Amino acid sequence: MTQEQLNALLEETRQALLGLGIPVSKKIDPVLRVNTRAKRRLGCCYYVSGGHVIEVSASLLDRPQLLRETLAHELLHTCPGCRNHGERWKTYARQAGTALGYAIQRTVPVEGEAEPLRHEEIKYILECQSCGARIGRMRMSKAVKSPWRYRCSCGGKLRRIQ
Ligand SMILES: [Zn+2]
Ligand SMILES: [Zn+2]
Repeated sequence: MTQEQLNALLEETRQALLGLGIPVSKKIDPVLRVNTRAKRRLGCCYYVSGGHVIEVSASLLDRPQLLRETLAHELLHTCPGCRNHGERWKTYARQAGTALGYAIQRTVPVEGEAEPLRHEEIKYILECQSCGARIGRMRMSKAVKSPWRYRCSCGGKLRRIQ
């Protein structure tokens, strides 16, 4: 899939949710990010400098249905009061799931694998001062505490931006 096709799919899914009356944010980065490192993560949604950024795992690129469901899942996190998987998020997930025929879940079992794939909530974000790459972290770690001690794969210094 090209980046244009990925962006178009993101926008298409956003419009589908808006069409159901679900208040998806207007401030969503139109570029869908693909993560090639986080293999057990389906996707995530984080908020930086005034906008939501949506990221999906590269392992979804050859699984179109799961990719669409993941986009819907992450887009629902951009609705007011939906940053976690609380009651409001669950209500929208049920509504969208029924209307679009999607299974919008938090974890997705994979045949032959013990651990399911999961959606994660990014709590911390490190940014490379040189190449601008953003690295999401689910929990507190040494790198989140002291980002200046670590380097991006490009060699640039890291800074915590969330
Ligand atoms: Zn989620
Ligand atoms: Zn870098």
